[in-house]
Amino acid sequence: MILIDGKKAAAELRAELKEEVAELKSKHNKVPGLTVILIGDLTPSQIYVRNKEKSANEVGLKSEVIKYPDSVEERTVLEKIQELNSDETVSGILVQLPLPKHIDKQKVIEAIVPSKDVDGFHPMNVGNLSSGYESSIPCTPLGCYLLIKKIEPNLSGKKAVVVGRSNLNGKPMTQLLLKENCTVTITHSKTKDLKAECLDADIIVAAVGIPELVRGDWVKKDAIVIDVGINKTDNGIVGDVHFDEVSKNAKALTPVPGGVGPMTIACLLKNTIDCFKRSQI
Ligand code: NAP
Repeated sequence: MILIDGKKAAAELRAELKEEVAELKSKHNKVPGLTVILIGDLTPSQIYVRNKEKSANEVGLKSEVIKYPDSVEERTVLEKIQELNSDETVSGILVQLPLPKHIDKQKVIEAIVPSKDVDGFHPMNVGNLSSGYESSIPCTPLGCYLLIKKIEPNLSGKKAVVVGRSNLNGKPMTQLLLKENCTVTITHSKTKDLKAECLDADIIVAAVGIPELVRGDWVKKDAIVIDVGINKTDNGIVGDVHFDEVSKNAKALTPVPGGVGPMTIACLLKNTIDCFKRSQI
């Protein structure tokens, strides 16, 4: 069984991106810039944002974090986004989710100009991805896609099952696999026989949020299994896939932690650089 090392893949991607940033700097005499807006003092969000800033600096991006207290008015955030939209030194804008209840998440997402939407959540980018056009792609599914392609460069005709249909993970993952000519089944909480669906799959991507939902006898020999889940349990962090059981069957499997997680931030950096490159054309 191939243990898909997301840490290593993310380090390789960051190294490539660092070189690319250096080339862009010598060509354009400027570097891509990422601005993150962080609202409130939720610890996980603070940790994510700190890691994003650190990684952005490592590859040579210009990075900035704008912090607001929980009580900030929605209008203030929207005005700041407008300002960043027209700031030429800012290539990518990300508003760290979740937001306080009084702020309308969709309004915030739609305020970001699609060309700087590094999360790929703007309806314009969602539409472009599903139409097969160039767009920002949500970072976690993009990371999963890059890991799958490392194992199997030609996905044409493969049967893929995506477990979970969130806008963040399941739906964009489905679009990426479709674009690669996979035959994709998207499953969710109302799917009748999830085990039977999974047993048919050459590729399984699990993005559910239920610890160890996908069992060993759900996976056919030689399947590629990507575990997006991050679940806190009494036994520590586990994924949506039962690692010990599935590793006996699968051809390749991502561990949790150390699989998809590290790729997510690396893909955010990639999206920022891609936004910059598109803005220079
Ligand atoms: P989400 O928005 O809660 O969506 C979960 C999806 O799973 C929903 O579509 C739901 O179906 C489906 N589902 C629930 N129970 C199911 C069942 N018994 N069988 C089949 N499908 C079921 O979750 P998310 O934001 O996509 O996150 C999923 C997991 O990924 C979480 O553990 C999260 O922490 C993790 N995550 C990891 C990263 C990373 O960087 N590695 C990034 C983001 C999220 P319905 O639509 O029918 O409700």
